[in-house]
Amino acid sequence: MISSFFRILSESIKSDPISNPFQHEHLSATLTIIGSGSALPTKSNFPTSQMLELRNKQFLIDCGEGTQIRMRQMGLKNNHLGHIFISHLHGDHCFGLMGLISTFGMLSHTSDIHIHAHSDLEKLLQPQLNYFCEKLPFQVIFHPINPSVHEIIYEDRTIQVSSIPLKHRVPCCGFLFEEKAGDRHIKRDMIDFYNVPVWQIGKIKQGADFTTEEGEIIPNDILTLPPTPPIRFAYCSDTAYSEKIIPIIEGVDLLFHEATFMEGELPRAKATMHSTARQAGEIAKKANVKKLIIGHYSARYSLKSDLLNEAKQVFEHTVLGEDMTSYEF
Ligand SMILES: [Zn+2]
Ligand SMILES: [Zn+2]
Repeated sequence: MISSFFRILSESIKSDPISNPFQHEHLSATLTIIGSGSALPTKSNFPTSQMLELRNKQFLIDCGEGTQIRMRQMGLKNNHLGHIFISHLHGDHCFGLMGLISTFGMLSHTSDIHIHAHSDLEKLLQPQLNYFCEKLPFQVIFHPINPSVHEIIYEDRTIQVSSIPLKHRVPCCGFLFEEKAGDRHIKRDMIDFYNVPVWQIGKIKQGADFTTEEGEIIPNDILTLPPTPPIRFAYCSDTAYSEKIIPIIEGVDLLFHEATFMEGELPRAKATMHSTARQAGEIAKKANVKKLIIGHYSARYSLKSDLLNEAKQVFEHTVLGEDMTSYEF
């Protein structure tokens, strides 16, 4: 099911407009829910995994058992995947890694795979890689993260990722993916009017004024429009209700927040350090996010619409995360 405020992405990944200085950057991001279930897999809900596509790059977030199967069922390519982020070391978030990496080795994936996770993951996975995947055509590089602090754990020219400390039974963090602030957009008609040479456009997009041959200074805001607001996505699973995350995720374009239980199971949610659908809605509302996707459902709920309705009572712009579904935002 696709909500009206999301669109399904076309097959192709959008190209980076860096080569054309006149092109405006109207990029979007796509979140594909690969698995939306929790510890006990069901026919319709595999354990947790998501793929974020942003700026022509793919980021895999958690890798529950069956992730590679779902990816192949969807025809989800991994050509642009270099970084995998694991929230915590519960099996429903990492049991899929071994199979996925092994299969990548057979599918001529050649770029290195970087895994950002708690340091214990390397100790657990490396012996298996040594045993089963002796001759991979790429390297698997582990980057230990400290789940108890909010800090930048990955960055490149256009994107940064930071950790979001969560409240769970084992060390656990979510991830905030953010575009870096982009350049200003040039007004093509003004650039033509003042005969701005192409070699100066880069500087003008970064905010410089322009001086004409006659010595007249043209202020930058005559020549440009403000940059597109950066896209921001926050992933929060698994966690008990925690208002501490609100300042970090404030105003994001899209929040994924776990909703393992309904309010009727609140004591169980507290005991297992998970959230209810209502609590996910409350976090979304208090953090003033634009859209909320819920997931990580307990296998006990056959009617997911009940979870959706509970979250929507608090935060209207909520949709159910469903396996093998892409959401453009
Ligand atoms: Zn889980
Ligand atoms: Zn967990």
